[in-house]
Amino acid sequence: MTYEIALIPGDGIGPEVVDRSLPVVEAAADAHGVSLETTRYDWGSDRYLAEGAMMPDDGLDRLRGYDAIFLGAVGHPEVPDHVTLRGLRLEITKGFKQHVCKRPSYLFEGVTGPLRDYGAGEIDFVVYRQNTEGEYADIGGREYRGHDNEVAFQGAMFTREGTETIVRAAFEAASEREGKLTNVTKSNAQAYGMVFWDDVLREIAGEYPDVEVERLLVDAASMDFVRRPDEFDVLVASNLFGDILTDLGAGISGSMGLAPSSNIDPTQTHPSMFEPVHGSAFDITGEGVANPIGTVLSWELLWAHLGEDALARELRAAVRAQLADPDAPRTPDIGGESGSEAVANDLRTRLG
Ligand code: ATP
Ligand code: MG
Repeated sequence: MTYEIALIPGDGIGPEVVDRSLPVVEAAADAHGVSLETTRYDWGSDRYLAEGAMMPDDGLDRLRGYDAIFLGAVGHPEVPDHVTLRGLRLEITKGFKQHVCKRPSYLFEGVTGPLRDYGAGEIDFVVYRQNTEGEYADIGGREYRGHDNEVAFQGAMFTREGTETIVRAAFEAASEREGKLTNVTKSNAQAYGMVFWDDVLREIAGEYPDVEVERLLVDAASMDFVRRPDEFDVLVASNLFGDILTDLGAGISGSMGLAPSSNIDPTQTHPSMFEPVHGSAFDITGEGVANPIGTVLSWELLWAHLGEDALARELRAAVRAQLADPDAPRTPDIGGESGSEAVANDLRTRLG
């Protein structure tokens, strides 16, 4: 089987982690008889600084025919965040109806998190984050700039399509995992969007009688991420809450550099997009120390999404074996002294 993948390495450490992960992924694919054809798009902040746009006008059309999209990172100290975000990531996630952002958190053997010493696999949950609307719907305004009566308004939008899609994806995942779904909202303080969300969730829950639903307010959930993360299985949350909780999830499972992410259109009408959770991290760009593991694990999600389960498992097994080996190279973010390249080369030797 041949897969065509669009690569957008992007900004900062994005190209570094993409380029280090690629030989590992190509070797693994080769061993599984999977052929991978990649096309690179140099879209991102450098393009914006040179030409005034993160990607070309017909960018979405160019991506439409691919089996999947792989993104490194976007974000640049000289470009405002709303430009980098709107000009590329949101363009793709919204344009391709990637309503579902799936982000697993897993504590691997050999990785020390900041919490009490949980054993390997004791932290093992997946957050399903609404990815296209909610608090990031980009509705609002600002009036009377600089005056005493200045006012800014920031709206949030929850559509039935966007909400049903994320909730259903989370129920599906829970029924395939341990059958437990934690619904994270703030319905006590946000009486429109969040109460609507709870209503939709209650409707869909009827289709999944075997899934146990737990309801948590986001403030309590944040505390429980620290106090009892081992009890979570699948969590579902709005765009904003999911954004915050998944950084927390990356933090408690060792490092931002280990966390994978995916932006999925469950109808498979459009290509889905895979990327590490971390951003462009200009503080370490060019030093060759960016951890490539979050990127490799994002490739694992990509292959699982495309139905290449054996290949996905192979990449994960290589990562698991490397992290568990005290003599293996590791990057500074997880307590090592090695560079990205040494880590990637070592991963290759651990394949099949
Ligand atoms: P953005 O503005 O695009 O979110 P950022 O510069 O805020 O990017 P984050 O990805 O949010 O960077 O990460 C926060 C910090 O974690 C970084 O500044 C960096 O020090 C560290 N970090 C992130 N990713 C990695 C990685 N892959 N390897 C090692 N350290 C990382
Ligand atoms: Mg950041």
